[in-house]
Parts: sequence; C-alpha cells; structure tokens
Amino acid sequence: DKLLLDVKNLHVSFDTYAGEVKAVRGVSFNVNRGETLAIVGESGCGKSVTAQAIMQLNPMPPGRIKEGNILFEGKDLVKYSDRKMETVRGKEISMVFQDPMTSLNPTMKVGKQIMEGLVKHQNMSKAEAKERAVEMLRLVGLPNPEKRADQYPHEFSGGMRQRAVIAIALACNPKLLIADEPTTALDVTIQAQIIELMKELQLKLDTSIIIITHDLGVVAKIADRIAVMYAGVIIESGTNEEVFHNPHHPYTWGLLKSVPRLDRAQKERLIPIYGTPPDLFAPPPGCPFAARCDYAMKICKDHYPMRFDLSDTHYTHCWLEHEMAPKIERQKAEGG
Ligand code: SF4
Ligand code: MG
Repeated sequence: DKLLLDVKNLHVSFDTYAGEVKAVRGVSFNVNRGETLAIVGESGCGKSVTAQAIMQLNPMPPGRIKEGNILFEGKDLVKYSDRKMETVRGKEISMVFQDPMTSLNPTMKVGKQIMEGLVKHQNMSKAEAKERAVEMLRLVGLPNPEKRADQYPHEFSGGMRQRAVIAIALACNPKLLIADEPTTALDVTIQAQIIELMKELQLKLDTSIIIITHDLGVVAKIADRIAVMYAGVIIESGTNEEVFHNPHHPYTWGLLKSVPRLDRAQKERLIPIYGTPPDLFAPPPGCPFAARCDYAMKICKDHYPMRFDLSDTHYTHCWLEHEMAPKIERQKAEGG
C-alpha cells in the first residue's frame, strides 16, 4: 500500500477567552510512501497547527481536534491515547522545527542526544547506539563525526545544528518526517544545502516528508506535491509542476509573485500580497481571500467556493473556475 498518511476533513480549534479560533477548518490531504508534500501559506494559515495535530503535540492544548481523521498506515491517530502516541512520535513520525535549539538540549553532547531515541525506541545497547549516532552525523554531512558526537550544540554553527537535528529525527528511521520551516532561521546558502540534504536523505532512506513553509521558493526543488493553505483551508493543491506552471488560484499567483525567480531580471521588484487574512474567530462565509483578491465577484463574498478539479491531481477552490465566471487573462494575472 503506497498510501502512508491520509488526513480527512481535519478541524482544529483553539479555545481562548475571546472565543473559539477556528485555526484549521476542514483540511484533507494525503502523503504516499517516499513522497514529499509541501504545505505552503502565510503565518497563521493553520499549516503548523495541522502538523502539530498529526503529532498531537503542544500547543495542542488548548487546541483540540474537533472533527476529522488522521489515518497513519490506516490507523486513526486522533483516537490514540497520549501513551500510544509516545510509540509513534520520534519513531514512526519525527519532527524538525525552525529553530534547531528548540529540539536540542544545550547541556547534552550531540551524540548522546541522537543515542537517546535509539536506546528508547530501538532497544539498542549504548555501544550500538553510539556507533549509529556517529553514522547519522556522517550521513547528514558533518565532517569529523566522531569528534562532533562528543561536542555540545553551542560548538556547532546554525546550519550544523539543523543537520544534527535532522540526524536525531531520522536516527530511528521514521516513515514520516515533518519539517516545519526547517530553513527559515538559516541564511540563504545554508537553506539550499539543508533542502539538498533532505532530498538526498529521502532517496537514501525512503522517508516521506511533509515540509511546511511560507516560502514557495524553498520547496520548488524538493516537493512532489504542494498544498496551498489560506485561513485554515487548502485553496489549491497539485503536483509541483501544476502549482508552479499552471497555478489557478489568485492567492497562489500572489505567492508565486513574491518568490525571487532566477529566470527573471535580478532587480525585479517582488510583489507582496497586500492586506491581512480574515479573523478566524468569525471566518467569512464566502471565499476567505475575497477581501484581498483583485478578482473578487459578488458570489465570492457570499458563498464558499466549491472545489473545481483541474486534473486527477490538481484542484482549486475559486469561483473563477465556474463556467459562468468572466474569463480573465491568466498570463497577466500570474505576472508570467
Ligand atoms: Fe478571488 Fe473569488 Fe477566487 Fe476567492 S473565489 S480567490 S475572491 S476570485
Ligand atoms: Mg508556523
């Protein structure tokens, strides 16, 4: 069975003093074995909350899954107890965060931190685990892995720390790696190296990856499929090719215009998307992007756009796809 993860109609809310924040509002997607899915969107769109829901991690309380299923190899993680989730986290599914220092213990040698999971989940002896830790540090491209294993995180550069975090995450050979903005804290050249590394490791270890980012440019080289999220919903999803070369949602066009492109003039101005996402205390009944969309029609404000399938792998939620909608000049809209 090639289907590894199948998220169905996920709703996640946060209960606050001011009311219920509907952070994720009916999200469905799946990840096949050995595949990379990118979830892309601005901060606050619900992409990190979705990842945390899969892991059932903090800050889940006061967040709660209101509805939906998270089927991992056919078993629904939503129904798992905390105790049962412990056998999944770090072993079957691992997570890498933006700031490597949130995952690293500053007072423990890096090699020891890799060994911890191996001893806990794989029942390895200390000697075996030590050997595997050094092997993992070599695999993530750190020179002198034996020496590095005996050092503390502060002796590593930012890029090296993220490599170490990836080594910890992959040490137990998880089936799924969730990387939430894994390169955002790093400078541009190091970013490219970390993405390259993740791609290489995926081929070697056959891990599936969910990469979460606000920057479409980061995932161009690594994602097989892309889901674009806005205000708690997926507004467009397709293969890498479909989203980059045949995007259909005005918000995706906006994201693409804000990505530096090598095939364009170097100094070309990147165009930001003006305005702010809607208030998730009271999401609008219609298209959540309507207030910022250059193409908004009357129907957009009143009715949530239905799903339009553009191919077996590509869909969008936008009224422009309706046969009654005015035809717009797509090339111009995309800025292509
Ligand atoms: Fe714009 Fe309407 Fe499409 Fe929403 S449904 S993205 S408001 S055209
Ligand atoms: Mg986030």
